[in-house]
Amino acid sequence: MDCEEPAKLDELHERLTGAVEQLVSGDDWARALAFAARFRARSFSNTLLIWAQHEAAYEAGRVPDPMPSFVAGYRQWQGLGRQVEKGQPGYMIFAPVTGRFASSNPAASDSWRRLGKGEQPRPGEVVRSKMIAARPAYVWDVAQTAGDPIPEPPSPRLLEGEAPAGLWGGLAALVEERGFEVLRVPHEGMIHGANGLTDYAAKTVAVREDMDSAAQVKTLAHELGHVLMHGPDAETARQHRGIGEVEAESVALMIGAAHGMDTSGYTIPYVSTWAARVDGKEPVEIVKTTGERVRKIAMGILDQLDTTQIGDGTPPGLDRETPQRPQSGSERSAPERAALLHDAGARVSTVATATARERGL
Ligand SMILES: [Zn+2]
Repeated sequence: MDCEEPAKLDELHERLTGAVEQLVSGDDWARALAFAARFRARSFSNTLLIWAQHEAAYEAGRVPDPMPSFVAGYRQWQGLGRQVEKGQPGYMIFAPVTGRFASSNPAASDSWRRLGKGEQPRPGEVVRSKMIAARPAYVWDVAQTAGDPIPEPPSPRLLEGEAPAGLWGGLAALVEERGFEVLRVPHEGMIHGANGLTDYAAKTVAVREDMDSAAQVKTLAHELGHVLMHGPDAETARQHRGIGEVEAESVALMIGAAHGMDTSGYTIPYVSTWAARVDGKEPVEIVKTTGERVRKIAMGILDQLDTTQIGDGTPPGLDRETPQRPQSGSERSAPERAALLHDAGARVSTVATATARERGL
């Protein structure tokens, strides 16, 4: 491993902590979620790192737009016929370091042994790649590259107050899959003045129908967040009530943002009011874990919907699932290895990629 990496990794952790601290003290949580929705294929930590470094690049005049659109690694851009321009530093993010593990009894978790470099499994052994650590890697926004045009994917267009096509039905199906009945009630008087209400005992999710369709679908996404993340345990509910509402509304915001909905109407309290609530945990940790928890739930929901969604930050035409290089690292020349080190997306095997994708790195 490159000897400058530990220092770089420290720097990366410091940058991330700085970005999270900024979130803790500011009122940017909703903006951070909208951003995370646009880059939802990556971990919440990596989206914060991309956001902060793109903002710095914008302020330094290196990129024309305050929002990045598509980001990819150096070689990934080359694969799309584009070249990173001179003088454009990449955005440093976390990438997984994977190791190969072998087992003759895959079901037993303690049976896996790590394979050495070039070591072959014994006959009958199954091999899996697993993430064992993180290392710094670099990605560039499309604005930092030149070359073949990137096809613009169609983006959903919505009228004010209009719900995205198929979203209500898709969310309702997911609510029902969890054994809850979706009810539409005429007005908020029937559900204690709320827009929606999840009743864990009666197994119902009620949404008032005297609102426009966008507000109704937003409320249903919020209640689905409760159904998937929270339970009837009164004690837990009381203790975490503040953060529970933040989580449900954050999931709803990410679902809405991924469908091109206006996210200004979501009500999320200041981070300083909810991130300080849970004893024994630092606000920075709470913000990081809440962001990642919300992203995973939102991704799980979005993956099951048959709706038109905005891109996830991966350039059209790039398949992050496909390994870009042959399996063996030992055949690579030194410059190739150096390039790989710079390429956040280069994976050594599809199994490793699947693991990395779950982790959103
Ligand atoms: Zn709620």
